[in-house]
Amino acid sequence: MADSESTHVPPLLAPDEPAAFEVIADQDRSPFLITCDHAGKRLPRALGTLGLPESELSRHIAWDLGAAQVARALARELGAFAILQTYSRLAIDCNRRVDVPSSIPLVSESTVIPGNQGLSPAQAAERARAIFHPYHARILVEFERRAAASQPSVLIAMHSFTPSFMGVARPWHAGMLYNRDVRLGRALLELLRRDPELFVGDNEPYSVSDLSDYGVVVYGEQRGIPHVEIEIRQDLLADEAGQEAWAKRFARLLPDACARLAL
Ligand SMILES: [Zn+2]
Repeated sequence: MADSESTHVPPLLAPDEPAAFEVIADQDRSPFLITCDHAGKRLPRALGTLGLPESELSRHIAWDLGAAQVARALARELGAFAILQTYSRLAIDCNRRVDVPSSIPLVSESTVIPGNQGLSPAQAAERARAIFHPYHARILVEFERRAAASQPSVLIAMHSFTPSFMGVARPWHAGMLYNRDVRLGRALLELLRRDPELFVGDNEPYSVSDLSDYGVVVYGEQRGIPHVEIEIRQDLLADEAGQEAWAKRFARLLPDACARLAL
């Protein structure tokens, strides 16, 4: 039971701080709906540095390096709707249900997050109210608008992954992730694997699960919308040339993959 002190927490975001999400290229002619859950590394001012040095707040535990640029460029190329989350996943992870332990991580990779230790239920709920819920409410509005207009949707969840995790190198250039609905993930994987220079993972370096993912599960699987979670290795997105090349690659292949599914 929360005591009276912990049930009253101030708003996480001050009025002058950025919104929890940014919507870009908001056009309705494309079926593609691009999400970027880990686009931003900003921390709400009220959280300070979460007790971490800048070196930790800039690396992959805080955000998906390069993913926002790819999402923006892909939206531009496809003329598609995209939504990018502004705040660091260390504040709250928008690709997790709010009731799982990794929603507000106590430890990420091997880094303890001091500012996330010992939160009251009310403090945790305020993180969700300020960041998680507005972001997902906006995504839901877009899906519902399309459903009402009988406009098709294809969900693209854009992410990037660190080349080395817990000291283990990851060889894949990119990975296609999916779980119950294999349609788009497998079609895209097959197209990508036609390029002999690319080493593309099939549900690598992660796989989608109900506890480690949110958007693909809630919007893709539960609404029956074709989807894929795309993971690109971060060292390949270190500069604009890499970001543009990957965006153009997916802008070329995604319509092909959908056509093969008769979507
Ligand atoms: Zn991510």
